[in-house]
Amino acid sequence: MTKKTTQTDNVIENNTPKLVDPFGRQVTYVRLSATDRCDLRCVYCMSEDMTFVPREQLLTLEEMSRIGKAFVELGVNKIRLTGGEPLTRRNIISVFEALGKLDDLKDLTVTTNGTLLEKYAQPLKEAGLTRINISLDTLRPDRFKKITRNGKLERTLAGIEAALKVGFEKIKLNTVIMRGYNDDEILDLVEFVRARNMDISFIEEMPLGQIGNHDRSETYYSSDKLRQFLFEHYALNATTEETGGPAKYYRFADNLHSRIGFISPHSHNFCEDCNRVRVTAEGMLLLCLGQEHSMDLRKVVRANPDNDEVLKQAIIDAMKLKPKGHDFNLNEQPIIMRHMSATGG
Ligand code: SAM
Ligand code: SF4
Repeated sequence: MTKKTTQTDNVIENNTPKLVDPFGRQVTYVRLSATDRCDLRCVYCMSEDMTFVPREQLLTLEEMSRIGKAFVELGVNKIRLTGGEPLTRRNIISVFEALGKLDDLKDLTVTTNGTLLEKYAQPLKEAGLTRINISLDTLRPDRFKKITRNGKLERTLAGIEAALKVGFEKIKLNTVIMRGYNDDEILDLVEFVRARNMDISFIEEMPLGQIGNHDRSETYYSSDKLRQFLFEHYALNATTEETGGPAKYYRFADNLHSRIGFISPHSHNFCEDCNRVRVTAEGMLLLCLGQEHSMDLRKVVRANPDNDEVLKQAIIDAMKLKPKGHDFNLNEQPIIMRHMSATGG
């Protein structure tokens, strides 16, 4: 249930600062985009020809760490670095290292396509990450090439093996099932995670940005349909477990180490429980994935290089802008022109 709040709910009381929006939802989770660039071009995420943000407009690594720290001082306890492909940003490990030192940050994590994990799994573990998400939609090299427009499956698989080897507590696959692309691989992907004690979350495709000739209404595969299919093949028990994100989880009756999650922005709008905001690689604080409400934090950090109090106040003020929810419709042209990669998915 949500409640109406007043502005004073955001003040720092008894040393327990908190960020509360006008609908009573507390923001405890920030997704920081390290870059809008990527070494892949997944059909649902990007068009083949993308124009990326000029490098000088990106937040510096120090600015990124500073913004992350300000959020943590305001009660945020989970930060995910994402993108674009976060591991393609030069020296990005320094941001993980800086954030990893913050005592009040309970959960520091990353979403990656895995292509660079062979190199970075160990440094990420050393920076304090205990769990990571790796995106993978197919186990077939030819399909991987088609879905990612020229990626090499073996690199992501090698990245997954490297992550398993360094021993993260939990590795989760993120998978977008698309009708006609990979809907015949659902069981193969589930067996892949079960064999490795990993989790898997199935994400419904969202209408963000123009993506060339890929038609989202043609490929949409609902979580309800997927769940029904999986119930026919596995004994699954719903859990009330949360990882601070939008996924709803099920456990296998015969394998206690793996879970299936569903992220269902269309069929089960998750806005009521939203505890998240995003910061783009340019430093725009986005209050909702599916709306344009935003605040320019880059401007604030650059105008106040030595004053984090001004930055924190700007973040507190931005909470007033958080809208009630998104309004996705796959059958219409996307109303949000930002790509997922620019948003910080
Ligand atoms: N490059 C990294 C990766 O692929 O894991 C991180 C960024 S990517 C934008 C984060 C997640 O967003 C991926 O799991 C991807 O499958 C998902 N994603 C991208 N575009 C999407 C869309 N239009 N609808 C639903 N999920 C999307
Ligand atoms: Fe790159 Fe991730 Fe988008 Fe794929 S989903 S194009 S890997 S940012």
